[in-house]
Amino acid sequence: MPDRSIYALKYAGPFNVYAGYNVWQWDMATEAFERENWYLWCVGGDGPTVLVDTGADPALTRSRKQEDRFESPVDVLSRLDVAADEVEHVVLSHLHWDHAGGVHLFPNARFYVQESEYRFWTEDPMSQRPPFANLADPASLEYLTALDGTDRLVVLRGDREILPGIECLHAPGHTPGQQAVAVDDTAHGRAIIGSDCAHTFRNYRYDWPSAFSMDLAECLRTYEKLRAAASSIDLIFPGHDIAMHDDYPAVAAGVTRLA
Ligand SMILES: [Zn+2]
Repeated sequence: MPDRSIYALKYAGPFNVYAGYNVWQWDMATEAFERENWYLWCVGGDGPTVLVDTGADPALTRSRKQEDRFESPVDVLSRLDVAADEVEHVVLSHLHWDHAGGVHLFPNARFYVQESEYRFWTEDPMSQRPPFANLADPASLEYLTALDGTDRLVVLRGDREILPGIECLHAPGHTPGQQAVAVDDTAHGRAIIGSDCAHTFRNYRYDWPSAFSMDLAECLRTYEKLRAAASSIDLIFPGHDIAMHDDYPAVAAGVTRLA
């Protein structure tokens, strides 16, 4: 019996973004803009609550984003009757600030991150160069490194089932150690929270990554892997598509049920 549900929690947006950024060079000629949202995700139903990403602390978002269209991920999560300090499992899809900039909001959580992602942002000098440093939040990285060696930080090497029916999938391309989360037993079958493996649903359908990719070829290999792992392509949920907010049933303000 299906017993797991996936919720998208919008904590920021909508923001205007160049469409040729979400689908690399696709709309270069038209200079089209589109809207995007920022999310974290919650797996509910039977079994432990699992968050995918943390969103960002409002103070951090305020310092990085001029537009005033965001709220605390903790407040959005509370609309699912989940208190931040009760959350025990948080998968970090990757360590960009808009996805991992709220780690300190979950003081009792165990964080799951891929080793290649963790090492890149905490040890590789390349991550200090401007295009990468601009995407990281040093305070969040310090928070995680302080947990290193404790049971609150689980550093994964490749695919791993972390809880029954919840599997982390190594899915590089957007970043060196990006990961997705496969969730068994939703009402529609096996679904995947891809986060920024792709920014929109179109990336998977067109087989065409976003501009925001460290390695386009790795992105395409990841798309193959995720399409094979999900029960359908429509069950691979991207990182920033407004459709996750606009086209799915709302269960509370900013919270939609994806599967
Ligand atoms: Zn990202």
